[in-house]
Amino acid sequence: MSVLLIAEIVNDELAVDQTAKSVTAVKTLGPITILCASGENSKAAEQAAKIDGISKILSAKAAEFENNLAEPVTKLITDLATDYEFIVSPATSSGKNILPRVAALLDVMVITDITKVISSDTFERPIYAGNAIQKVQSSDRKKVISIRTANFEAARETNSVPIDTVSINQIETTKSSWVEDRGQSSDRPELTSAKVVVSGGRGIGSKENFDIIEKLANKLGAAVGASRAAVDSGFAPNDWQVGQTGKVVAPDLYIAIGISGAIQHLAGMKDSKTIVAINKDEEAPIFQIADLGLVADLFSAVPELEKKL
Ligand code: FAD
Repeated sequence: MSVLLIAEIVNDELAVDQTAKSVTAVKTLGPITILCASGENSKAAEQAAKIDGISKILSAKAAEFENNLAEPVTKLITDLATDYEFIVSPATSSGKNILPRVAALLDVMVITDITKVISSDTFERPIYAGNAIQKVQSSDRKKVISIRTANFEAARETNSVPIDTVSINQIETTKSSWVEDRGQSSDRPELTSAKVVVSGGRGIGSKENFDIIEKLANKLGAAVGASRAAVDSGFAPNDWQVGQTGKVVAPDLYIAIGISGAIQHLAGMKDSKTIVAINKDEEAPIFQIADLGLVADLFSAVPELEKKL
């Protein structure tokens, strides 16, 4: 039984954390080959070859793979699928874009967001915004699986495995084309892999006030997150959203400021190791899951905390 793990590649660079956590997640399923589909000049394959616990790298380089368009990558994966029983990827935007297509073309189901491998055909995944854990058993001959990486430790990087080059015959022209990537460029750590996350909610009150959150985050070397209410109100950009319909994070420290603790927000952060909540309402549900709670006005407490740090 062998595993084809689709490497997470962003801007032609390996997202090491997501990929290495996926390795840990599936290491009991069989020998792991990592597929790096990237642009011509990418060094993602060389980076991936260092991850412990894998047997081989397949490197597929072509201009068409540079921007992660789902169709060419899907075609590449289905061409390679014969040799593998498991086709897996982190449950990132890219993985969520590609895997359902792969599953459909292979005529199997896609098992999404797994948090545990129980055996080669049985997996755990959260449902109802993380309020219940579902055990899924699949009799499909090939299993297409996405991984909720926040639940796994990253494999280390002391390895050195061979890199095989995939010969690419012809890449079909597809219905979609890449126009541009618009993202926030930031010196802060990436939200889903940061060790510390400082998040702000509707209580912050405005885009300008979000500066309070950012200053604290800068002090702590943390990533910045936000509730959906903060994003919908225009206080914070979309890709900061944590929760059921945002990003799922499990940092060592999560600081929720002016966030009430709605179930959909908790779905994205409740596995954080230490949760700190600052809220002026002592009845706020966030305090039920917080390890440390401070009932205070954020506009005085947060600058004071930042100053003391
Ligand atoms: P509120 O609930 O309005 O809470 C604001 C908090 O700030 C309050 O507790 C208040 O006491 C506190 N506060 C106000 N002023 C101060 C002050 N000066 N000092 C200290 N505290 C103060 N939400 C998400 O976050 N992520 C998701 O992914 C998500 N997905 C959803 C999906 C669906 C299908 C649905 C229906 C909802 C989803 N939501 C999501 C929305 C969710 O239900 C809540 O509406 C949202 O999380 C509330 O955000 P909030 O806590 O910032 O705002």
